[in-house]
Amino acid sequence: MADIPHAMKACALTRYGHTDIVELPVPAPLPDEVLCKIHAVAICGSDPGIIGGRYEKMHWPPSFPFVLGHEWAGEVVALGENVDAFGIGDRVAGEGHCGCGQCENCKRGNYTICLNYGRRELGHRHYGHNDQGANAEFNAYRAKCLTKMPDSLEYAAGSLCDTGGAALHGVELGGITPGGSVAIYGAGPIGLCLLGMVRNMGADRIIAVGRGHRLRLAQSLGADVCIDFEKEDPPARVREITDGRGADEVFECSGSPSGPADAVNSARKGGTVVLIGMYDEAKVKPLPVLKIVNEQIRLVGSKANPNVSDKVVRMLNKGIVGWQSIVTHRMPLEKYAEALDIFVNRRDNVVKMVIEPWATT
Ligand SMILES: [Zn+2]
Ligand SMILES: [Zn+2]
Repeated sequence: MADIPHAMKACALTRYGHTDIVELPVPAPLPDEVLCKIHAVAICGSDPGIIGGRYEKMHWPPSFPFVLGHEWAGEVVALGENVDAFGIGDRVAGEGHCGCGQCENCKRGNYTICLNYGRRELGHRHYGHNDQGANAEFNAYRAKCLTKMPDSLEYAAGSLCDTGGAALHGVELGGITPGGSVAIYGAGPIGLCLLGMVRNMGADRIIAVGRGHRLRLAQSLGADVCIDFEKEDPPARVREITDGRGADEVFECSGSPSGPADAVNSARKGGTVVLIGMYDEAKVKPLPVLKIVNEQIRLVGSKANPNVSDKVVRMLNKGIVGWQSIVTHRMPLEKYAEALDIFVNRRDNVVKMVIEPWATT
């Protein structure tokens, strides 16, 4: 660790609603961990909620000051004991979740629903949620939650690995009907990543539901039909487009209160609905449960991005996920508060805001 400084710049949540640029010690990698230099970290749709105190009950953050950020890419700069899979200088993309590796769910590969959630002593981490995140110049990570990136892929693209992974996990759980129809609710980062994936997996007709600039982006990324939810009734329009039947698969990525019910009402008999968004339980519209039963709709919850990062990195590298259209903004760490404001208030047609801690201002 010869040329690694002892202190680093980080953006910390110092109290709800308030972030500060602070100096923190550079973490030393524990056994099975590596120290990474963070080159790009994307602001996630869930970050403003954590900052605002919406997830206090989930202990996100566990205490103040706290460093958020879980969608990142960077470079391995130091190795803890027992690390064999990575070397100094490796370019890597990260994941938010790191399971304990020992519980029944982890053993089945379902580490985003680890049964030992929050038990740090067993190796569980949820970076940027209950464990230090990537809004800093460095952070230490358990090696098993990293994925190597090719030299040809920019760090900003790698910071989409987590978001793209959330899309791909939903697609893997829900499945795609080659030659069939897919409806995507939400033209944000997850929905837009998902669009490129299902198009390449052989979906014939892709229907995107959104509004404004993001919906136009969905069109430019290959949506066949775009439904503006401010002007039309999305489920009625989806049925109309699909000869009255509904879509084979519906992916709910909007996180809006009406999203889940609209998604179910857009599915064909025997179709599949995948819920990927984060919902406000108190506001969400009740689901049409009789339709789910009588029309045998398969309803799937999809939690984050287990076992997909290597595939997403290849899709990003191959251009299947049009990350250049999705990463609309890049800003240095010092301007985090301004970046957050642009992201939260959707200023300047922002889709994904990427923070670059080592960018020169
Ligand atoms: Zn995220
Ligand atoms: Zn586990």
